[in-house]
Amino acid sequence: MDLTKVIRDVENFPKEGIVFKDITTLMQDGEAFKFTIDEFIKNLKDKNVDVIVGPEARGFLMGTPVAYGMGIGFVPVRKPGKLPHETESYEYDLEYGTDTLQMHKDAIKPGQRVAIVDDLLATGGTMEATAHLIEKLGGEVVSMQFLIELESLKGREKLSKYDVNSLLKY
Ligand code: 5GP
Repeated sequence: MDLTKVIRDVENFPKEGIVFKDITTLMQDGEAFKFTIDEFIKNLKDKNVDVIVGPEARGFLMGTPVAYGMGIGFVPVRKPGKLPHETESYEYDLEYGTDTLQMHKDAIKPGQRVAIVDDLLATGGTMEATAHLIEKLGGEVVSMQFLIELESLKGREKLSKYDVNSLLKY
């Protein structure tokens, strides 16, 4: 199935000069959404994954159906102040300033095999931070699955020590 047909380009969002890949149009299309989730599950089925992790917020939309389909758990990665229990944090650099991501400290058990699912790989900063958090908790990142990869931003280079897969490359 050609998923490019159901992804909408939105110009000048969230800032002037950026062309945003809008995945809400893919999710509105039941057949395309099911195809996408089934592809992720196919890619992960032989990797002995114990748990799926998804970063806020579109990682929740992609990751939870994958976890459900595989019959395993889902763990959210969130911006500071959103998770109610004790958290582990990781601060990382952005083009201007820094950002922080958090996970519940007891969300990953040492030795668990973790796959991360997100909608889009750009610079790889979000994924790298997410992987660091999982590793801080003792988990092993066995795969990173993306719907879309923006190849010109070279996120894959930043994530070279991981198994990185994307369904669509631009
Ligand atoms: P990175 O950290 O790799 O630079 O950026 C990836 C993160 O930003 C992902 O969590 C993704 O949801 C979000 N993101 C950045 N650009 C886009 C875009 O064009 N479309 C969508 N859907 N998400 C984006």
